[in-house]
Amino acid sequence: MPSHDVLIIGAGLAGQRAALAAAQAGASVSIVSKVHPVRSHSVAAAGGINAALNPEDSWESHAFDTVKGSDYLGDQDAIEIMCREAPDELLWLEHAGVTFHRDGTGHLGTRAFGGASAARTYYVADITGHALLHVLYEQLMKHHATVDRYEEWFTTDLLQDDDGRCVGAICRNLRDGRMEVFNAKSTILASGGAGQAYEPTTNGLIVTGDGMAQAFRIGAKLMDMEMVQYHPTCLAGNGILITEGARGEGAWLLNANGERFMERYAPNKLELASRDVVSRAEQTEINEGRGFPDGTVALDVTKVPRRRTLEALREIVNIGRDFAGVDITREPIHIRPGNHYMMGGVKTDSDGRTTVPGLYAAGEVACVSVHGGNRLGANSLLDTLIFGRRAGQHAARRAGETTMPATPTSRVADVERSIAAIIGREPGGRRLGAIKRELGATMNQHVAVFRDGDGLAKAHEVVRRLKEQAPNAAIDDRGSVFNQDVIAAIELGYLLDVAEAIVVAAQERKESRGAQFRTDFPQRNDAEWLKHIDISVNGAEAPRVSYSPVTITRWQPEERTY
Ligand SMILES: Cc1cc2nc3c(=O)[nH]c(=O)nc-3n(C[C@H](O)[C@H](O)[C@H](O)COP(=O)(O)OP(=O)(O)OC[C@H]3O[C@@H](n4cnc5c(N)ncnc54)[C@H](O)[C@@H]3O)c2cc1C
Repeated sequence: MPSHDVLIIGAGLAGQRAALAAAQAGASVSIVSKVHPVRSHSVAAAGGINAALNPEDSWESHAFDTVKGSDYLGDQDAIEIMCREAPDELLWLEHAGVTFHRDGTGHLGTRAFGGASAARTYYVADITGHALLHVLYEQLMKHHATVDRYEEWFTTDLLQDDDGRCVGAICRNLRDGRMEVFNAKSTILASGGAGQAYEPTTNGLIVTGDGMAQAFRIGAKLMDMEMVQYHPTCLAGNGILITEGARGEGAWLLNANGERFMERYAPNKLELASRDVVSRAEQTEINEGRGFPDGTVALDVTKVPRRRTLEALREIVNIGRDFAGVDITREPIHIRPGNHYMMGGVKTDSDGRTTVPGLYAAGEVACVSVHGGNRLGANSLLDTLIFGRRAGQHAARRAGETTMPATPTSRVADVERSIAAIIGREPGGRRLGAIKRELGATMNQHVAVFRDGDGLAKAHEVVRRLKEQAPNAAIDDRGSVFNQDVIAAIELGYLLDVAEAIVVAAQERKESRGAQFRTDFPQRNDAEWLKHIDISVNGAEAPRVSYSPVTITRWQPEERTY
């Protein structure tokens, strides 16, 4: 049985940063990932990472922009930590080998991102996540003596002892189907978001909410789950992302009449208002008949000098050509808002501690909450690194003060039985893919940019029905080697749990704030709703709702305009 001070589930940016920090603090570490670490979804991050590094900028300005971007739902103590620690983290990355863009004078170059009052986004062309992930992996290799990597291992469940402490996890080796208990003094979830609960989404097929559901099932609270980000510039149909870096470099948004419509919605910031504002503006143009017949508006990248586009936005030139047949350096491309990011997740403090002792969370799976109602572009990579590092350090410290727990190995037999039951399902149930597609379409219809009570009630009904169907969904592969059918069946269960938490929280919040716009409650209502919604398990019933206060340090809520 693998036994370590710190077990980390997930090897994207949050997980690898946590592993490095824990190893540097002297802990023995195991890091588990269902895909090879450099295929983790962080690899898709394009536009960059924020830090107030320029002497004319300040961490206070970055923090205020983040608080305002969050529509005042972000916890300001955590936001202060993230923005204060950002410059050192960026320099650490640079020194570790990330080849950030430099300007003509040799200084680190920046681009503007939405909702920011200064250009403070540092980038590597439009492959920033790729660059960061590879450098961290390289760094992890240095610690091979104390960090054991379990690549292509799938965590099915978290383990608790009789006192309710998390003491590790059960994992399946995807190569041969072998189950194993991982014993640990501290466990860190770094398993990413849940974009696959929606269709389309910018998120890859592996982003299935596993950690959120696993933590929820053992009693950890989820927070801000109603806050689901729709990114303003996604390709129609397939949802592929065109990075905000395009607007940061000067691209315009146009409706079908050729109007630069953001002048009406955000006269100061225009295309670089925060994402919730831009997505709503686009959807309003489309709903009111000023979009194109394919339900889109246009992104005009021709405003950016062609040479600059080819240098700094190469990937989206390729995406335009390969996935839409458009040369974006010569003509506008049709885009619309699409599912992108979970602001909510497993509730943690600023050291990554969840409400379950021994269990930590960091990155997109977690909710610290630094993004509140709406995340600013390029603040997520920062969140993964700052809070990944802090969780790694704290988890290592805790491990130093704890003896190795006795792990309830009998749970493996339960999980093995449940997997055998999946493999043994009678043919003839509904296909997994059909259930997942209905879930994604329902969420995209009713729990998207605009929501209302009736639509949310319909969505809840569908999710409950799909939860009943999922345990009988048919699978084809009955083998043990890389059985992706079994994994997809387990992941579908996670997605349904996460989707229900999103819907229940969205039903509960009877106001409009950040990414949650209720057409039946169109105003922000600080008197009643300046609070977090926490979601916890409630047996077979719909999840239980409770509230927790928003931490305000120095920025009182104000009207939010851009
Ligand atoms: C297209 C795109 C572009 C983006 N661009 C930017 C940007 O420019 N700037 C920015 O700040 N943010 C950006 N984001 C957001 C940002 O990339 C993500 O929020 C962030 O990278 C998430 O990192 P993570 O470490 O939390 O999770 P991930 O990178 O998703 O890693 C999750 C890890 O968990 C593992 N895992 C999951 N479930 C299991 C399981 N059951 N068992 C074992 N392992 C498991 C996976 O294998 C993986 O290793 C972008 C997002 C997308 C989709």
